[in-house]
Amino acid sequence: MRYAPDELHVYTLLNVYQYIALLLALVMLGGAWQARGRYGLWYWVGSFFAISFSQEAKVLLSSVIGDANSVLIGHLGALIASSLFVLGTRSYLGARLKLSIITLITLTASITSVCLIKFGTALWPSLSFILAISALLHCFALSALYLEYKREGGFPLLFGSLVSLLTVIISASRAYAVIPSIAGSKSLAYQANAAWIMIFILLLVSHGLSIFLLISDALRREILALAEYDALTGLLNRRGLQTRFARIAGRSKLDQRPHQISLAMIDIDYFKNINDQYGHAVGDEILVQTGQKLMQELRPSDISARLGGEEFIIIWDSEQADQAVDLAERLRAKFEQHEFNTRAGKLRLTISIGVSKMQQNLEYLEDLDAVMNRADSALYQAKHKGRNQVILQA
Ligand code: GH3
Ligand code: MG
Ligand code: MG
Repeated sequence: MRYAPDELHVYTLLNVYQYIALLLALVMLGGAWQARGRYGLWYWVGSFFAISFSQEAKVLLSSVIGDANSVLIGHLGALIASSLFVLGTRSYLGARLKLSIITLITLTASITSVCLIKFGTALWPSLSFILAISALLHCFALSALYLEYKREGGFPLLFGSLVSLLTVIISASRAYAVIPSIAGSKSLAYQANAAWIMIFILLLVSHGLSIFLLISDALRREILALAEYDALTGLLNRRGLQTRFARIAGRSKLDQRPHQISLAMIDIDYFKNINDQYGHAVGDEILVQTGQKLMQELRPSDISARLGGEEFIIIWDSEQADQAVDLAERLRAKFEQHEFNTRAGKLRLTISIGVSKMQQNLEYLEDLDAVMNRADSALYQAKHKGRNQVILQA
């Protein structure tokens, strides 16, 4: 395309737009490679490449394929970029992709745009139409982001929602602003076009920033989650136990109906002998298998954790203390019958369990340490009375 001198700033701004898109695509490509395709990054990479390549092709190919065709490439690129962006956002959020709806809208819009430009050389209607469809597509990203923000809160999701909302408003406004050009009454002034491109550049940078914030937040959550698990057994560690306990206690307060929360402290009997007799590695194998056995015997809603050494904790939400004692007794019997497969052959062992119940009413919730202290002294009694038994200290 040849540009008149006063169009040159529009041309320069389009170049800036395209190179920012290229930069974002390349940065995200590196990220997607490292993250092995998680977080919907590939869709986002595709979206930024679509903007960058279609703009580049529009400029490079115009002398070969003609102005109308090169404008068409620009329009289709923008449409595909919007669809891929929406898919990336929904994929990152784990929302349903709505792939068939988005593909259908994109295909129909592409065919319409091709018809408008090929048969009517109607560049402005095509632009207005493509922008309106872009606004519509971004509503799918906006709804997913806003729903997730309402569920999870946090600045990255709020920022993402606002940027998506702005995209919808700005695309729709731009679609509306080019309508006078469709009627042929007047063409938008170059200055106005330049201002619009500036706005789209800012929007592009905001999208890049928003994705960066969302991804770093996801990584932060993943690292926090890892810090809550015990490396040997894969059960929760003390820190993870504390956050889960706070969550159930909080829910109990919120429901204005105290949950029955019971806790069991489990300690393997004479574990030191196993280490002394067969070595630490065999001890570790037993610990791992104990963790597996606990997970196997408990319901998914029960919480199990390794407190350290050969001590484990179970928390039952909504179980009366006497039911908790029954569950603990069943667990004790299961371990007594269980054969551990170790490198030193099949081994048997027993466990002692101290059970306690969280004291609470609507005004007062006992903290985890207090509940654990009673379970600990119950466990001490179980050991004192000869081990392999369950004692309750409600
Ligand atoms: P009881 O509880 O019946 O009174 O006897 P015990 O021999 O089990 O008692 P104690 O709690 O004193 O022993 C715990 C042992 O657990 C001591 C330590 O060597 C071992 N231990 C702690 N952490 C680990 C671990 O991560 N791996 C292995 N293999 N052993 C561990
Ligand atoms: Mg022990
Ligand atoms: Mg111990």
